[in-house]
Amino acid sequence: MGPIETRQSQRTPPLQGTPPLSSEPLTLGEIVENGFCIGCGLCRSIAGAGDVDIVMTPEGRERPVALRALDKPTLARINAVCPGTRIAGPPATQMKEATLTDTVWGPVERLVLGSAGNPTVRFVGSGGGTLTALGQFLLNSGRVKFVLHVVASPSMPMRTERRLSFDAVSVLEGAGSRYGPAATLVDFNAVLDRGEPFALIAKPCDITAVRNLARLDPRVDEYMRYALTFVCGGASDLSKSEQVLQRFGLSEDELTLFRYRGHGNPGLNRIETRDGRGFEISYRQLWEDEDKWMIQPRCKICPDAIGQVADIAVSDAWLNGGPAVEDESLNGIIVRTKRGLELFDAAVGAGALQIKRESSIAEISELQSHQVRKRRAVWARLKGMAIAGKPVPFISDLALRDCAAQNSLAENLAEGRGARDRARRGRLGEPPAVPRGAVLGDA
Ligand SMILES: Cc1cc2nc3c(=O)[nH]c(=O)nc-3n(C[C@H](O)[C@H](O)[C@H](O)COP(=O)(O)OP(=O)(O)OC[C@H]3O[C@@H](n4cnc5c(N)ncnc54)[C@H](O)[C@@H]3O)c2cc1C
Ligand code: SF4
Ligand code: SF4
Repeated sequence: MGPIETRQSQRTPPLQGTPPLSSEPLTLGEIVENGFCIGCGLCRSIAGAGDVDIVMTPEGRERPVALRALDKPTLARINAVCPGTRIAGPPATQMKEATLTDTVWGPVERLVLGSAGNPTVRFVGSGGGTLTALGQFLLNSGRVKFVLHVVASPSMPMRTERRLSFDAVSVLEGAGSRYGPAATLVDFNAVLDRGEPFALIAKPCDITAVRNLARLDPRVDEYMRYALTFVCGGASDLSKSEQVLQRFGLSEDELTLFRYRGHGNPGLNRIETRDGRGFEISYRQLWEDEDKWMIQPRCKICPDAIGQVADIAVSDAWLNGGPAVEDESLNGIIVRTKRGLELFDAAVGAGALQIKRESSIAEISELQSHQVRKRRAVWARLKGMAIAGKPVPFISDLALRDCAAQNSLAENLAEGRGARDRARRGRLGEPPAVPRGAVLGDA
């Protein structure tokens, strides 16, 4: 069945397994071991650095570890904001007032193919540099004081750090996709403490987390003026990047650059070392073997990898069926809110963004067919997990059942049974989080 380009008739009621907001909230260990954690870092920001640490695990995931037993109110707060335990879709008023809504794609104010107006940003950016251009425009136009986003760690460039950028040059340094772990929200409370208007550019699950927090902390809506995201196929373990190093016989401490993509669309995965050597593999080579994608467990049940709660969500747009080494620099741009539309129009008016042409739900569904499949699969996967006796996240307003209704019964049964069996075998969960050094004796 093809995608349906109609208004969404009905929102799915919350899907509940073991609701994490019950009288017994999940502990951090339970969130991690049930495969719900994506390593955003918000729980550390909520509990405080003295109580929760974010560690790199032997699997190559950033995960929280409680340094002492957390009290119940702190755990309840973490359960209420964690994007692994609670995932809410767009508010009903937004759905009602949206120019277009689609069961799979959610609210849409405008859907275009476009890119950054500036050729350097277009080239350096992951696809067409749209997110970077928007971040720069927000600063240059004085709409925000800073942008919270991520960049390659200057000291360990295969790893990713959160950054506050106060100028356009700094935003450009964060251009490109970082496929490994990224704890964007590790000190989000301190970001709010600044009391200054800012924009967030991050993964859809990071946006989910801060929207959750907005229900508890009014400073989020007061200071976070824009939330921008990308359509997300999943975050890999750091071990995925380490495999690339193994291919070239390199160790992490030799690196001065680890660029996953960008500098072209998609551009090459480029590595540079302290002694001046350079190594490259193509995007296709990086992702050729799906068994080695090492996508984190939370991503396999992600109910909103398409950024429904962001103001603008940006995707790849490979018009020739898939990425070559060098495609036209281009993005799909899904403007989701009225605030996002005002920003988009202003950025186009100022030349920060350029429009190639209008797009459509049918086209984005074709360009992002894996996202359509996932949206249709998640409801049955969660049911399968619940049948296996596992807790499932508390999910609301994401039309998961309506998406599943676009599958045949046989497809839903296959998804549900597959997830049930994987959950029973423990394959949807994770080992307890421990720091690497504790197990392997390395840094
Ligand atoms: C893990 C991952 C999976 C993706 N999967 C898909 C997909 O399935 N389909 C698709 O169309 N596109 C996917 N993308 C997005 C795509 O690669 C582009 O990032 C997106 O189209 C935006 O392009 P751009 O040129 O506007 O980005 P840029 O202008 O280069 O800006 C990218 C921005 O994203 C931020 N960022 C990069 N990585 C991360 C991260 N891990 N966590 C938080 N923020 C980050 C950067 O700080 C930067 O601000 C994925 C990206 C990532 C990081
Ligand atoms: S997803 Fe974020 S908030 Fe939830 S446990 Fe993991 S790091 Fe903490
Ligand atoms: S697939 Fe979902 S959970 Fe995974 S990184 Fe992307 S938005 Fe986050």
